[in-house]
Amino acid sequence: MYFSKLFIPTLRDNPSDAEIVSHRLMLRGGYIRKVAAGIYSFLPLGLRVLYKVEQIIREEMNTAGAQEVRLPALQPSELWEETGRWAQYGKELMRVKDRHNRDFCLGPTHEEVITDLIRNEVRSYKQLPLNLYQIQTKFRDEIRPRFGLMRGREFVMKDAYSFDADIEEAKATYQGMYETYQRIFKRVGLDFRAVEADAGMIGGSSSHEFMVLAETGEDDIASCSLCDYAANVERAELLQLEGFKKTDHEEAEAMCAVTTPGKKSVEEVCEFLKLEATALLKTLLFLADDRIVAVLVRGDHEVNEIKLRHQLAVTELVLADKETVKRVTKGPSGYSGPVALKDIEILADYSVAAMPAAVIGANQKDTHYIQAIAGRDFNVDTYADLRNAVAGDSCPRCREALVIDRGIEVGHVFMLGTKYSEAMQASFLDQNGKDKPFVMGCYGIGVSRIMAAAIEQNHDERGMIWPISIAPFAVEVIPVQEKKEAVLTAAKTIYTALTKQGIETLFEDRKERAGVKFNDADLLGIPFQVVVGQKNLEQGLVELKDRRTGEKTCIPIDEVEAFLLEKCRCQ
Ligand code: ATP
Ligand code: MG
Repeated sequence: MYFSKLFIPTLRDNPSDAEIVSHRLMLRGGYIRKVAAGIYSFLPLGLRVLYKVEQIIREEMNTAGAQEVRLPALQPSELWEETGRWAQYGKELMRVKDRHNRDFCLGPTHEEVITDLIRNEVRSYKQLPLNLYQIQTKFRDEIRPRFGLMRGREFVMKDAYSFDADIEEAKATYQGMYETYQRIFKRVGLDFRAVEADAGMIGGSSSHEFMVLAETGEDDIASCSLCDYAANVERAELLQLEGFKKTDHEEAEAMCAVTTPGKKSVEEVCEFLKLEATALLKTLLFLADDRIVAVLVRGDHEVNEIKLRHQLAVTELVLADKETVKRVTKGPSGYSGPVALKDIEILADYSVAAMPAAVIGANQKDTHYIQAIAGRDFNVDTYADLRNAVAGDSCPRCREALVIDRGIEVGHVFMLGTKYSEAMQASFLDQNGKDKPFVMGCYGIGVSRIMAAAIEQNHDERGMIWPISIAPFAVEVIPVQEKKEAVLTAAKTIYTALTKQGIETLFEDRKERAGVKFNDADLLGIPFQVVVGQKNLEQGLVELKDRRTGEKTCIPIDEVEAFLLEKCRCQ
């Protein structure tokens, strides 16, 4: 392809609204353009990368025995009513009405549609197992669309759904998909890790996320420094601490009130009382379905709402507003504490029981209590694992210290069990002629997010550095001083030869200064650059630059083809 003919609108300056490097570079390199918040157009280079990622996924899914289908993006509300998700999914679901005022949504995921298809078409165990997938645009009205392709409101996903006759077979399918995902992410060239995850809105009993390790990731991953345990912090189990026992408070000092004028936050109170956050106890009030509960965690810990939701067995969980706090605690927000919270359930994280004595809010303006002891000064109904893991917590498997890394979730596999098949009465006849619900699994990959994640892991100050498997082109041929006839002819000959060999090559034929061409080449991130210049040419040489290492080698012109064929093959 000729550069001058391709639509590659590069930008010289950094776009001001792009916060992370992948977003900045894709805009600057003319890969994508923004249409509205979380909505992007893919331009020719961006689309080439997207197709490469899709193709790798397709090949691996087909090899694993899955079959490609294409389900509609527009889905009738009736199907979602059957599983209860029309109400549950909340504002993230993009809802639309047709001309007859009937409700539809733009699919954020396809469990309902696929389960409906299978219940209508599959009657017998002889038709199982089945694993169907699609690569398609999904719609989610994300509360904070950001970071370009990383968190869009419209994005490309690969989603697969498996149907098995029993749990054993479903587990084997799940394991097969887990291994397929390992192969996909390896081929895409990502440094990733599979971690235990929460099954979230989709539900089900077991799930793993595939995380790309990167500072800009929105997820925290807890992994053991000794064994191979790794989990999303949302999910990482925390054990009851060794010190878990009701503190012996016989001879402990009595609780007393201290003035803390205007000090509400943990930081403010700690600074004022000259204490560490570990000496404080935070009290948070939540509205859980239709009841109010108080949750206690140590000052340096964060409540994990997923664990709390599981513990309480509720679907809706939100922090109580100021008015509710006032009504329940009879004090202003910011000074809440567990003393005298008589009529509501009080839950505390395991670590609270190991605190000797704590500073707590006194439910009065500008006041805290010190020397407060659980069981003596206030009641705790339930102790449970209710917080996010932090660095240094004990691994639930081997008790070694956990470390925390940032990660970008690029894939997610779920064991769904019979959650959807039961809700939608999707069943088949087994060997004994008995009616049984399908055992399902579902498997997602963020196709467009992979592009962003790949750049987060592969870039330098000059631009993108694509892994060759998903690069828009493998080689860029750059003639300099192209007014010299010989230079242009030699460059064209190399371009033609490489293209003939099936090496995807971009020919930089623009009438630009050499500096501009080099800068743009580095920005676009094509793995190999072949620079054809007069001086080298006189000696029968061209310069070959490896974009990743920056290494430049002069090689004889007639060896370029073989050299690059070899390079493209082994990367
Ligand atoms: P997240 O926690 O990041 O919102 P999710 O758990 O909601 O992700 P899934 O429902 O498992 O995501 O979707 C499958 C995959 O689709 C995810 O692993 C992720 O790679 C991708 N994905 C999800 N939401 C978005 C989005 N808003 N923009 C781009 N990709 C997304
Ligand atoms: Mg999400």
